Amino acid sequence: MRVIVVGAGLGGLTLAQGLRRAGVDVVVYERDGALERPQGVSLHVDDRGASALRACLPPGHAAMVEATTGGPRTQTLRLSDVDGPLTVVGAQPSDGMAGGARPGRQVHRPLLRAVLLTGLEDVVRFGAEFTRFEQRADGTVQAWFADGRTDIADVLVGADGIGSAVRRQYLPHAQVVDTGRRMLMGATPLHAVADAGLPGLIGDNPATVHVSGTMMALGVLRFAESPVVARQRWLPTLRPDAVAHIEDYVMWALPVTQEWLGAASLSAAVWRRAKELTADLRLIVAEAWPDVTVALRIGMIPPMPAWPASPVTVIGDAIHLAPGFGGNLAMQDAYHLCQVLAEANRGRRELLDAIGGYEDTMRRTGFPTPATTKAGA
Ligand SMILES: Cc1cc2nc3c(=O)[nH]c(=O)nc-3n(C[C@H](O)[C@H](O)[C@H](O)COP(=O)(O)OP(=O)(O)OC[C@H]3O[C@@H](n4cnc5c(N)ncnc54)[C@H](O)[C@@H]3O)c2cc1C
Repeated sequence: MRVIVVGAGLGGLTLAQGLRRAGVDVVVYERDGALERPQGVSLHVDDRGASALRACLPPGHAAMVEATTGGPRTQTLRLSDVDGPLTVVGAQPSDGMAGGARPGRQVHRPLLRAVLLTGLEDVVRFGAEFTRFEQRADGTVQAWFADGRTDIADVLVGADGIGSAVRRQYLPHAQVVDTGRRMLMGATPLHAVADAGLPGLIGDNPATVHVSGTMMALGVLRFAESPVVARQRWLPTLRPDAVAHIEDYVMWALPVTQEWLGAASLSAAVWRRAKELTADLRLIVAEAWPDVTVALRIGMIPPMPAWPASPVTVIGDAIHLAPGFGGNLAMQDAYHLCQVLAEANRGRRELLDAIGGYEDTMRRTGFPTPATTKAGA
């Protein structure tokens, strides 16, 4: 069996690693150049993402990810400075109820992506923008790319994120709805804000604090093991630059509206606007790395009825959006799809039955339930 994966993000690379381990011939086409975009700063990985990584990655890769996570995050703390200095005034357990956060650990995203790419150097084609596909009479699928390349496989997987070109052609009725909400996000080296007392106050747990009429979310990432040391121990084939110049930091996020954000879109402009909001916590934003400050668009894809299975399918943000845990869902989809494709490859299952089985599971686990829709509103 041959599989084309479109998109070398979290879902696409987890799938490619898993398929390779299962002996399936896989090729990944990625629009970006090799090191063009860091694709985010950090990621809260919960049980769904962690078990997908353990199942799909070779043991050394999985050990490298686990060695470099932050500490356990079991609750979300509520902070206040109303009566003076910043103190903890409440805590909400991370029990995953009503679409809320599940327990997990913080992972440095560029490092995770570098780990996911390790060993796939001969499989990932960078600078290849997928444009369209055609299902052929013999049951295979042909894909076309912007530079004129074309390729044929038994299965085509759209792992190409929120703007998915695969979804646009395959499921044109699945529309991304812009909620008008935006999230300003950034990261600040921990040493620059150590004097503010915040890192000691919250430990490894995420925290929220009300500032200037909005709620700021904070999360510290302290690497359990130095990434340089962990690379030597677990994954010496990892690119050395993936672990260079990494230090502990605090992530912050500020929900705003598109209206408030106005035309600011470049990192420096978004960073300036974030500083205007943060009053007492200004230091955290003032000392942030301006080039990783972003305004994230919060969209949603309304759940849709089942469609007939075919050799084309989709995973992750290409088919469902979940602010705060979409990466976990993308890795979970990758794991589920990998399992059924491996079964089909071994002749234990018909291919279309396998893909249909994955899609049923994906709709059940990835589409928002009424409770999660409410919590995300
Ligand atoms: C700032 C921020 C913080 C987040 N924090 C968390 C978190 O803590 N926990 C969590 O679980 N989730 C988090 N998310 C959500 C998470 O990042 C996404 O849900 C996740 O990346 C989705 O993975 P994916 O593989 O589906 O898509 P992506 O990771 O978006 O990957 C899609 C890939 O496809 C490529 N591509 C797109 N179009 C084409 C094309 N036409 N041809 C070829 N390639 C193409 C893109 O370049 C990209 O590499 C966060 C998101 C952001 C932006």
